[in-house]
Amino acid sequence: MWKNRLRPRMAVPTVADIDLGVLTQQGIRGILLDLDNTLVPWNGWEVSAATAQWVKEARRRGFRLAILSNSVGRRAHAVARRLGIFALSTAWKPLPSGFRKALAQLGTGPAETAVVGDQLFTDVAGGNAAGLFTIWVQPLSPREMPHTRFLRWAERRLSQEWGLDVQ
Ligand SMILES: [Mg+2]
Repeated sequence: MWKNRLRPRMAVPTVADIDLGVLTQQGIRGILLDLDNTLVPWNGWEVSAATAQWVKEARRRGFRLAILSNSVGRRAHAVARRLGIFALSTAWKPLPSGFRKALAQLGTGPAETAVVGDQLFTDVAGGNAAGLFTIWVQPLSPREMPHTRFLRWAERRLSQEWGLDVQ
């Protein structure tokens, strides 16, 4: 069923709501984080205190983390540096190449790596295709690219159908 390719393994309101204990139970050791509308508001630079604290706690627990973003330019790297992690930009999610590169740098296998993102058609579809544990978060801000806004309509339909009570 094509829809299952878009279905996340976990859905939570924000990054800070992800239970790191549950990830450990799932055998997860690596976490790939989307940038826009996941870590920062769309086109933003600032990570909230709650998100920064969550990243810090994840690092303390020994998780390997990286930003995997389709954005172009310095922003992903600047945000990553502040969080003490690394970034891959221009990732072309949902295509597999960015996921493969990120896993190679993290040193984790697909089944022991989670990807966190606000879009079913890029973060979740790509993560599922690459064999990762997919976590869907609500977008931090209503601002985004016009074509993304169009896809939100489809995301709402699917999340209602799946009974994901997050949108
Ligand atoms: Mg995003």
